[in-house]
Amino acid sequence: MLKILNTLSGGKEEFKPISDKVVGIYSCGPTVYGRAHIGNMRSYVFADILHKTLEYLGYRVEHVINITDVGHLVSDENEGEDKMEKGARLAGKSPFDIAREYENLFWNDLRELNIEKDEFWKTPRATEHIKEQLGMIKTLTEKGFTYETSDGIYFDTSKFKDYGKLSKQNLEEKLSGARVEAKGEKKNPTDFALWKFCVGENSDHIMRWDFEANDLHEAPRLSEEENRAKKIGFPGWHIECSAMSTKYLGERFDIHTGGIDHIPVHHENEIAQSEAVFGHPFVNYWMHNEFVLVDNGKMSKSLGNVYTLDDLKEKFDVSPLAFRYLCLLTHYRTPLNFTKEAIEAAGIGLFNLRHQVLLLANEDGVNDLHLEAVKKYQKEFADNIENDLNTAEALGTLYGALADNTLSAKEKLSLCVEFDKVLDLDPTNLIKSADDPKVTTLMQQREEYRKSRQFDKADEMRLELEKMGYIVEDTAKGTIVYKRME
Ligand code: AMP
Ligand code: ZN
Repeated sequence: MLKILNTLSGGKEEFKPISDKVVGIYSCGPTVYGRAHIGNMRSYVFADILHKTLEYLGYRVEHVINITDVGHLVSDENEGEDKMEKGARLAGKSPFDIAREYENLFWNDLRELNIEKDEFWKTPRATEHIKEQLGMIKTLTEKGFTYETSDGIYFDTSKFKDYGKLSKQNLEEKLSGARVEAKGEKKNPTDFALWKFCVGENSDHIMRWDFEANDLHEAPRLSEEENRAKKIGFPGWHIECSAMSTKYLGERFDIHTGGIDHIPVHHENEIAQSEAVFGHPFVNYWMHNEFVLVDNGKMSKSLGNVYTLDDLKEKFDVSPLAFRYLCLLTHYRTPLNFTKEAIEAAGIGLFNLRHQVLLLANEDGVNDLHLEAVKKYQKEFADNIENDLNTAEALGTLYGALADNTLSAKEKLSLCVEFDKVLDLDPTNLIKSADDPKVTTLMQQREEYRKSRQFDKADEMRLELEKMGYIVEDTAKGTIVYKRME
């Protein structure tokens, strides 16, 4: 029985899907104005583990992840420039161009973490769902949840009685305490923009649509006054996730994921606008991953400690999968403290795991000898991942099985392959030599020298191979040569 911590209730709950065998998941995707960092990547490793766990347990998963390519302002408080437009301006390119560029890099990054784009059922872009967003804003207006200011259309959070239920903020306390002033013309501090007009600091906003004409790219460039009068503008960030999640998964779906930073604003707002439109609960389980910290502090550009997957390769000489391994060692609801030592240890840990598996693959053995013991490990593994995705304990089960001398090499291997459906660390992926004829020649020469007991010469061949990055190992079943997979 799968149990997950639901941010909405604050407790661990038994997972009960809406439909018997299909689970709908929506994961807040990246804002594609720059390269995603390892903190972002942790969010997607977590969502991927959830996805693969559900599949392991026999569900079909319909997983939607969005691409935010418009409307996410520099400040979550509906202010400042649009991150996309700012990124484009700095790069001297159009926002559409940088959106595609960073979206492609995002998919590449995910692939390096063994998260294939294909595993997502839908990957909608905000700019391609303007019509759906406008539809929701219009319904909210008809239902009396919105008001207009000189710079946009806002959601009136005081009209939604459950506002704050996810983050357990009490709106009344917030308002009466008046510690937080409502900025600009907002009626309440928690009110948020559904639609921003191309006025003021956004008057040059390139991506713009006519509020009345559905899904029209490139609304005309008019004066600020005309933009305001015609409501020419662009959507606020939050509405896209409500519009795209419910379009593909229905007005009520199973699981919504994101990082903990999304709880108080973005997800609270998604709940308010969706439930105001539909008049009933929208998501059954909200799941949030904790942050990646660097040396126990915040990861931020100004501190120069924002790492991408490329940085891991260049600065620490570890593969992206070592980062996946590091994520699995830490429960998704525990902050992950990224240090040089931790990532290097993860690199070594992953290598050692693969090495063990490589040696097992080179041992003789039979399967199905110790069914009871095998079943015990299968059950333990399932219990661990079903316990709110306890991947650290699940890895412990794998290591327990590998160290269990009552199991045959084949049994250990098949458990490893089975558990890897969830862990996805490619533990069998160490050998990388067959396609290099030079390696084959050197190996043959080494073998000849060994047979004729010219061990000095044989060692020279080994050194030659090592210079090429290969490791040569003599096992019970013969000599193997392999390369550390990156
Ligand atoms: P963004 O591209 O800013 O919308 O963020 C994409 C995802 O990464 C969201 O789910 C965020 O909550 C998450 N995220 C951002 N920073 C971190 C971090 N340092 N650690 C973990 N997750 C993060
Ligand atoms: Zn979102």
